[in-house]
Amino acid sequence: MAVIDDKRRRMVAQIAARGVTDERVLAALGSVRRERFVADHLAEQAYDDGPLAIGLGQTISQPYIVAVMAEAAGIEAGDRVLEVGTGSGYGAAVLAALGVEVWTIERLAPLADEARRHLAAEGVPTEGPGGVHVIVGDGTAGYHPEGAGLAPWNAIVVTAAAAEVPRALVAQLADGGALVLPVGAVGAVQALVRIRRQGDRFEPEHLGPVRFVPLVSD
Ligand code: SAH
Repeated sequence: MAVIDDKRRRMVAQIAARGVTDERVLAALGSVRRERFVADHLAEQAYDDGPLAIGLGQTISQPYIVAVMAEAAGIEAGDRVLEVGTGSGYGAAVLAALGVEVWTIERLAPLADEARRHLAAEGVPTEGPGGVHVIVGDGTAGYHPEGAGLAPWNAIVVTAAAAEVPRALVAQLADGGALVLPVGAVGAVQALVRIRRQGDRFEPEHLGPVRFVPLVSD
């Protein structure tokens, strides 16, 4: 156990050396046991700071990119955060560790089920600050159930690449909030984009190249 904890500390130090400076984000990454979100035979590689296969052609994101996106989203404790693309549940657990309540949408029900199991094994609550709600559906439309009072979101993080910025996601952004997502063609290098809402203004910014699995609308 101690060996794997050392590996995690080393990974966080490397991510800090690559330029992620937000101490809260680094602490969040240091607090989530990534080996709990991958298959047993991949646990050895959980801290290699790369993507890993999670089944059904999908991947758990590279921790460095999870950190960059969490930092870019400008998350404050107490926020309500929407994640599109639950995958393994790892990214949602890192976001929740920032003291926020996370709603995360996954289109593949078997992955959503597994993510719930991973989150429970990691001791992540299913609601409240530090909690994660896993929802099955198409996150391209955001998440705005009637009467639930969830949207607008303080931050929206999308972990699958969209050919274009989904309008619904921009529309569900709170004033002062940020949408962070990869934009670009499947199989190509995509641009990590942040769109910040200031009143009626939406300010886009390119944060660098990334490579994600596609955002799929059914
Ligand atoms: N954040 C995840 C990374 C998941 S990879 C992690 O930490 O493990 C992206 C995920 O987005 C895949 O599981 C894929 O099935 C899902 N996805 C793709 N299109 C989607 C959509 N329109 N709505 C919700 N999920 C989607």
